[in-house]
Amino acid sequence: MKFKQLAAYFQKLENTAKRLEMTDILAELFTNLDPVEKEKIDEIIYLTQGQLLPSFRNIEFGISEKLIHRAIVQATGGISNDIEAMVHQLGDYGLVAEKVCLDHLEVLSISQVYANLEKLAEFSGDGSVARKIEFLADLLKNASPLEAKYIIRIILGKLRLGVGDPTVLDSLSLAYNQDKLLRPDLERAYNLCSDLGLVAKILFTKGISSIIDFKVMVGCPIRVALAARLSGPEEIIEKIGTCAVEEKYDGFRCQVHKMGNKVQIFSRNLENTTHMFPEIIQGTLDQIKESNVIFEGEALAYDPATGQCLPFQTTVQRKRKHGIESIREKFPLKIFVFDLLYADKDLTQYAFSQRRQIMSELIKKGKVLELSPVEEVKTAQRLTEIFEDAIAQGREGIVAKRLDGEYKAGGRNFNWIKLKQSYSDNLNDTIDCVIIGYFFGKGLRAAFGIGSLLAAVYDPTVGRFKTIAKIGTGLSDDELVRFKETLDKIKINFMPKNVESLIVPDVWVDPLYVVEVQADEITQSPVHTCGKDSKDDTGYALRFPRTVGFIRIDKAAKDATTVEEIKQMFNLQGRK
Ligand code: ATP
Repeated sequence: MKFKQLAAYFQKLENTAKRLEMTDILAELFTNLDPVEKEKIDEIIYLTQGQLLPSFRNIEFGISEKLIHRAIVQATGGISNDIEAMVHQLGDYGLVAEKVCLDHLEVLSISQVYANLEKLAEFSGDGSVARKIEFLADLLKNASPLEAKYIIRIILGKLRLGVGDPTVLDSLSLAYNQDKLLRPDLERAYNLCSDLGLVAKILFTKGISSIIDFKVMVGCPIRVALAARLSGPEEIIEKIGTCAVEEKYDGFRCQVHKMGNKVQIFSRNLENTTHMFPEIIQGTLDQIKESNVIFEGEALAYDPATGQCLPFQTTVQRKRKHGIESIREKFPLKIFVFDLLYADKDLTQYAFSQRRQIMSELIKKGKVLELSPVEEVKTAQRLTEIFEDAIAQGREGIVAKRLDGEYKAGGRNFNWIKLKQSYSDNLNDTIDCVIIGYFFGKGLRAAFGIGSLLAAVYDPTVGRFKTIAKIGTGLSDDELVRFKETLDKIKINFMPKNVESLIVPDVWVDPLYVVEVQADEITQSPVHTCGKDSKDDTGYALRFPRTVGFIRIDKAAKDATTVEEIKQMFNLQGRK
């Protein structure tokens, strides 16, 4: 297939906000690939999501709008000022490229464009800026207007077709099976490797049986298991009976992959954070002899003089790109290992108690990896004691784990149940919201140009963000300024396609950033789209919402609290 045809599909996707239509368009695209093209369906999947590889591979083009500008000028022989004026008028370098690039007889294949983009991302070192401009200008010279538009948007990370993972999964099933029944199998495989391109490629080259047999692969992060909530110790024991209880540490979740002498570390939102944690790499090599292992734990900074673990605000300083050696000396890390997912074979379907057993034999004593202490608990009374001790120790709370529970990748379920300190009479957990826009504000706040945020939660069944609150409290003046600065970099002049909102803020932004929000309770409301599945439904809203801190760097938008969780939290209210 030619890139021109793919660009035409992109255009169709861009023209609709309806998820079902998007699913059909994508399914038609996949169906129209010939067998050779299906072997490279992974490239198409990544491009459709505006990427070259799954995000955990950390590929960045490192090309700013300034460089795009110069490449367009060079490719078209245009006048810099004219291009500048067009950007002002059209608001998007993609649209500018579409306007100024010329049509061609010779057409680019998808693979050619993909290979060129790959090359573009690889240039580094001295003189790489000039080479990037030269190379991109050449690519644009050979691209038709529509192709140029999408090439530019992909490079700038602004493709914004609004195609979420659930839509891709549905359309793969539709293309392969003419129905959506394969979605759970495809989703399971995706949860185990976090790579939609790989899942699609396996489906179309090896068939559905290989998807059903899909196993964890060391080196591909597993989408993390998460904890459900219940209102108290009695409910926990009632729900899962005798359980394993651990403290809930407040640090960085690390999923550590060991392949021989190579170690890779992934964060909760599957970013590759390997280079940030040299002592975890060393600790893993020193304390685990087996070749192929995946384990998870919470990394915490500690005071080297006393050995005392430090609060999250200190641990968070370890999350940085530069100056790692100096901060490492000041605040070394240890990791409380709480699960084992692979040890020369996939263990995700083993019972938790078995995984813990294997884990305790596998991890030797040492300085960095420490098994998270665990106690088997039969009664609500003992659970309460452990919870109170944990809070007294400065922990966030506890996590109770079902003894025979498997590791359920990519989801929140009752195999793990968390219990945290109460924030209000009704809610005992904070809510992670995605900012989708902001309002200018009135009175004193008008001076900052931002007064409140429009916040949404995530609906993973459809891959969309749905509103739940307008937040104006909890924001200090300094934070307002920082929010405005940060959000203005991602503002757009229309409602993002993966957002459902009845409220129109003064400024829309790409749904990228997560903030932690405390509220007094969840109420029903007709103005928010969270939980509102039809026109006549009422949705959910947060009462007295206030932000806690600034943007959460450990969570991606898709890691925000889900609509389903809000429904569950609403039903739990007042049950304590
Ligand atoms: P929170 O915002 O409360 O950290 P979360 O949405 O990141 O929650 P939860 O499912 O609520 O995730 O809780 C699981 C998280 O708790 C894990 O992501 C992990 O980072 C952390 N954690 C700390 N201690 C443990 C433990 N002993 N077992 C499992 N997870 C733990």
